[in-house]
Amino acid sequence: MEDLINIEEIFGKNAFTFGKMKEMLPKDAYEEVIHVADFGGELSKKTADIVANAMKEWAISNGATHYTHWFQPLTGTTAEKHDSFITHPDKEGKMIMEFSGKELIKGESDASSFPSGGLRATFEARGYTAWDITSPAFLREDATGTILCIPTAFCSYKGEALDKKTPLLRSMQAINEQALRVVKLFGNTEAKKVIASVGAEQEYFLIDRDLYLRRTDLIYTGRTLIGSPAAKGQEMDDHYYGCIRERIGAFMKDVNLELWKIGVTAKTQHNEVAPAQHELAPIYETANVATDHNQIVMETMKKVAERHNLTCLLHEKPFKGINGSGKHNNWSLNTDNGMNLLDPGDTPNENMQFLFVLACIMKAVDTHADLLRQSASDVGNDYRLGADEAPPAIISMFLGEQLDDVVKQLVETGEATFCKGSNHLETGVSSLPDFLIDPTDRNRTSPFAFTGNKFEFRMVGSADSIGDPNVILNTIVAESFCEAADRVEKADNFDEAVHDIIKEYVTAHQRIVFNGNNYAPEWVEEAKRRGLPNLPTMLDAVDTLTTEKSIRLFEKFGIFTKAELESRKEILYETYSKTLNIEANCLREMIKRQILPSEISYMNELAESYNNGAKAGVEIATAKELLEKVNEYCNALSESVKLLENDIKEVRLIKNNKEKAFAYRDRVKARMEEARYYSDELERITDKDFWPIPSYGDMLFEV
Ligand code: ADP
Ligand code: MG
Repeated sequence: MEDLINIEEIFGKNAFTFGKMKEMLPKDAYEEVIHVADFGGELSKKTADIVANAMKEWAISNGATHYTHWFQPLTGTTAEKHDSFITHPDKEGKMIMEFSGKELIKGESDASSFPSGGLRATFEARGYTAWDITSPAFLREDATGTILCIPTAFCSYKGEALDKKTPLLRSMQAINEQALRVVKLFGNTEAKKVIASVGAEQEYFLIDRDLYLRRTDLIYTGRTLIGSPAAKGQEMDDHYYGCIRERIGAFMKDVNLELWKIGVTAKTQHNEVAPAQHELAPIYETANVATDHNQIVMETMKKVAERHNLTCLLHEKPFKGINGSGKHNNWSLNTDNGMNLLDPGDTPNENMQFLFVLACIMKAVDTHADLLRQSASDVGNDYRLGADEAPPAIISMFLGEQLDDVVKQLVETGEATFCKGSNHLETGVSSLPDFLIDPTDRNRTSPFAFTGNKFEFRMVGSADSIGDPNVILNTIVAESFCEAADRVEKADNFDEAVHDIIKEYVTAHQRIVFNGNNYAPEWVEEAKRRGLPNLPTMLDAVDTLTTEKSIRLFEKFGIFTKAELESRKEILYETYSKTLNIEANCLREMIKRQILPSEISYMNELAESYNNGAKAGVEIATAKELLEKVNEYCNALSESVKLLENDIKEVRLIKNNKEKAFAYRDRVKARMEEARYYSDELERITDKDFWPIPSYGDMLFEV
């Protein structure tokens, strides 16, 4: 029997939590830290030095040799540069390890190689990392040794945000200020803070690493650029929630242990719908820490997979024809004195604060549906959104039967006099317990679904940071809270003002509510009739960042300046073109250097068989027929690769970033699909021994 796992003992062991600070710091220093973490401001130099020293002592006593300012540049992943704790040896050659408050709080590095979208010219290379006191530093143990990772924000010399964290922290400040006004109006005067809370469910694929290493498309692009479907797909629904195989289970166990050690609350694990697909969900926490932790979850999965000779694929659509992966961003607002603003209680129709909050969220989502959609776009998600496994690119809200009915009453009469209650579940088996069921069923097809006491934003891509979606959620809701609070605060009659706002908002924005099947083609038509934006691909959504409406929103709450928004747009266009360029080159290379040469050998074998048959006096008609077919597809494939090469050459020359990105989408991507078609047809008829790369069946079913 292996050692027993004692979660209580290992949980948070490698995180420099507030609890550890409480133990290690003098009382006044600890209180200063808590105050700054809760309400902002700056640590005094003295306290910063004390904290840095304690952090260093703790890290070194746990084997750390280096520290790093860990940050999230606009590449979508994380970045780090390690510094060891060593200093000049003293006269006797003895090493003294040092780490000052200054080193903890501020890092400076040459940042010119990170995307800045023109915010910073290369000659203005300085970038700064600033300690995020609200997200616990942690020790990462791997082959590099033990590294103290300090979560930081990353800004330019002039203070412009160059990362995902800075705007997120700004947006949390905004929602805190505006939501506090709302709870105060409704009588919660004790609350000092409203926190945006997030739980991010993470989907992923695991495949055998030896197979992965034989697929350059997976290595370079994270997805299969060619590959015909296996005889079996996901049609039997036998993988979803299925029994977890030992090899996968061993991986999950290791991932959990790693995550628990650094204080990530890995909670649920299960097999997902597609073969070789799985999910992990942590317990929700503040949006900022949840975003950091989601990055850690993704990094840990990748690292641990290798130890099991597996590869973790986080791409939104690694395999054509079967479900891709997403992230469900569960979001709610909670006061520091324990009130969830999204909790309707048993009788939502009587819960004025809840209805007020709901009305404001309806307004926010309807007004800024375009931005919300943009926040969930990345190159990979284009292959997934609107396919059968994910919501379409149209934003709508699912409220469920009970709330939908309340909203209808409000729209019709201005009052909601009753609400549909919970029912008992009756199984008809006397030995099974009857219990109360949720007032509403789930709707898996909705991009933004109310699920009891939170909204679940289901559009986000599996590889993407959850930073952007939460920036948008926090900011758009802050805006509608602000406008509504302005009115109520000025009103003579509180009840009347609240009542008017609820009625006005739910009436004006009822069009955003859709409880039906979001996957149905009729919904696209219906949404169009309602005037809801439909931005099918990532590129269609980029310009939403700089509409007048967006600039006003972001500048009002200090989330982004116009220059920051422009720069983010440039980065999105650039990223799109670069990604497509890599994909196209990779496809070209695979076809020219692997697929076509193998097919030529195969044709040779077929020709030989045919000739040998003829010599023996037998006409092997199958060989001839196959040879002709393979030859025909090879010619078509060669031709389409030539056209692809020509497209790449021409598109590369386009100077304007936006035009170039669209050309990659409309020309290069379309051509890649064409080449794929012929390659996949060839795979279907080629002797398996001649096919040079692992098939879908190999990768998805032989783990
Ligand atoms: P499901 O989506 O299957 O209903 P859960 O209800 O367990 O699953 O929730 C999924 C995720 O939502 C988890 O990460 C969970 O911690 C998170 N979550 C639960 N309640 C809240 C809340 N009030 N605010 C934000 N996230 C929440
Ligand atoms: Mg969910």
